[in-house]
Amino acid sequence: MSESYTTGSSGNEQSASSIEGPRCFCDLRAISTTAFTDENWGRRFWGCVKYKDGGHCNYFAWRDPKMCAYGRRLIRQLREMHGQKLSEEISWESISGQLQKQNKNIEAIIAQHREEIDVMASQHRLAIEAMSNEQAAKIEAMTAQHRCETQVERKKAEV
Ligand SMILES: [Zn+2]
Repeated sequence: MSESYTTGSSGNEQSASSIEGPRCFCDLRAISTTAFTDENWGRRFWGCVKYKDGGHCNYFAWRDPKMCAYGRRLIRQLREMHGQKLSEEISWESISGQLQKQNKNIEAIIAQHREEIDVMASQHRLAIEAMSNEQAAKIEAMTAQHRCETQVERKKAEV
């Protein structure tokens, strides 16, 4: 077989549910692998189980019938769509990972400053209390003064 059968990332699919392969020249069950050549994109074939270790018997037999040009184009498109979707998922994962990291940073900053914020808030509260005490004292003083003036004027009127 002159065709090179390079395997992609999803190369060997030795699923238990798949039908048993024919026996290779080593008298072992051949395994199913998917070809990713231009001519036979996505077409499965049987190969020697020892293929990856070297020392294999060169057994080769197509598992799937030859795909027509239309079928090949369709499979290629599906693979491209799948790859695109995967890369979109990966970029989304990295974005949400970054956001989570940023959230953690913000939480850490808030935690770091929480004490400062608490101190500032209590200082602010004390300042407001002091101001309102001062204000209340002023009002009281003004009222007292007014009362005093009123009394003086009343006495003047009586005189
Ligand atoms: Zn073999």
